[in-house]
Amino acid sequence: MKMRPTIFLFDIDGTLITITRAGRVAMERAFAEFFGTSGEVFAEFSFAGMTDRAIVRAGIERVTGSCNESLVDRLMNDYAKNLAATLERDNEYRLHRGVSDALEIAERRPNGALGLGTGNLRLAAKAKLDPFGLFERFRFGGFGCEHEDRATILRWGAERGARLLGRAREECDVLVIGDTPKDVIAGHAIGASVIAVATGPYRAIELRRAGAVHVFDDLGDPEVREILHGG
Ligand SMILES: [Mg+2]
Repeated sequence: MKMRPTIFLFDIDGTLITITRAGRVAMERAFAEFFGTSGEVFAEFSFAGMTDRAIVRAGIERVTGSCNESLVDRLMNDYAKNLAATLERDNEYRLHRGVSDALEIAERRPNGALGLGTGNLRLAAKAKLDPFGLFERFRFGGFGCEHEDRATILRWGAERGARLLGRAREECDVLVIGDTPKDVIAGHAIGASVIAVATGPYRAIELRRAGAVHVFDDLGDPEVREILHGG
């Protein structure tokens, strides 16, 4: 059986790893340093499934009531710098069950391209995955520095994957692996199949409600392997 070329786009937070506080701490610090704000800019604001660009923009709007692109770029930069430093001090992060096997299967898939589809800035993705030695495993990606809209990030990621495989995007299957309703919706918006895992802040029923068909407790489920294998 000849396998169709397949592009894998893995989300990071809640899917591969969970970082308890560092992302939020680094973001708050960037705002405190730049605006001199005290207290939490992002109180009662969920980062789940949000792109870093959208988080930064929302924060700036909360503080100033308006926003411009150069300010977004500046704050994103500050955040990424803070994140690397925060992660060095903070070791409250973990790898989710089944991740190593899942990545290995995706990597070995004939005609497969293993990439990231994440709301994280590229630098933030590297800072988060480097402690696990995982960043270099992904050969391409769509990142949160590139666009605020998750579907656009995934679309660009998929195009890069197709280029890597030397194929037209239409000739490839795309499989998005994520943990939030936003991953599910963005994946379906670009015509991808989606594996949704309940290792992030959302329960299986919420992921199903967002339209996910393949929902699992974690990536260690045998059926996940089967899907990644192309079965
Ligand atoms: Mg996530």
